[in-house]
Amino acid sequence: MLPDRLTGRCYCGATQLSASGPLSVAYCHCTDCRRWTGAPVTAWVGVPEVTLTPAPEPFSISEGVSRTSCPRCGSPLAASFSYLPGTMWLPMGLLDQAADLAPTLHCYAGEALPWLHISDDLPREQGSGHEVL
Ligand SMILES: [Zn+2]
Ligand SMILES: [Zn+2]
Repeated sequence: MLPDRLTGRCYCGATQLSASGPLSVAYCHCTDCRRWTGAPVTAWVGVPEVTLTPAPEPFSISEGVSRTSCPRCGSPLAASFSYLPGTMWLPMGLLDQAADLAPTLHCYAGEALPWLHISDDLPREQGSGHEVL
């Protein structure tokens, strides 16, 4: 059972987040997510909306992609993508319920690092997976 309420915080604790239950949970292997989070693969939790307290100003580096980071510690907090309307994406690692949020999909599987072997039977999308998310 997926939790119907999500809570979490950034690394330093200055920014708290709360969200209604997840719409989807997926790994993303793309190079943009890798650079932004600093992790070899990011697991994202898609939610209909998120409340960030306080609410930092989002920024955009790539057209159609909005990202929000903690102004104090720099933790990635949330991202939205114009090709995935109505969904905010939260980095799994911030969430208190992470243990209950198993991903169901790999996105941008073709960009996965060659030494990273995740042995599951989940579908592997070569692109963003926006048709199935
Ligand atoms: Zn912070
Ligand atoms: Zn990505």
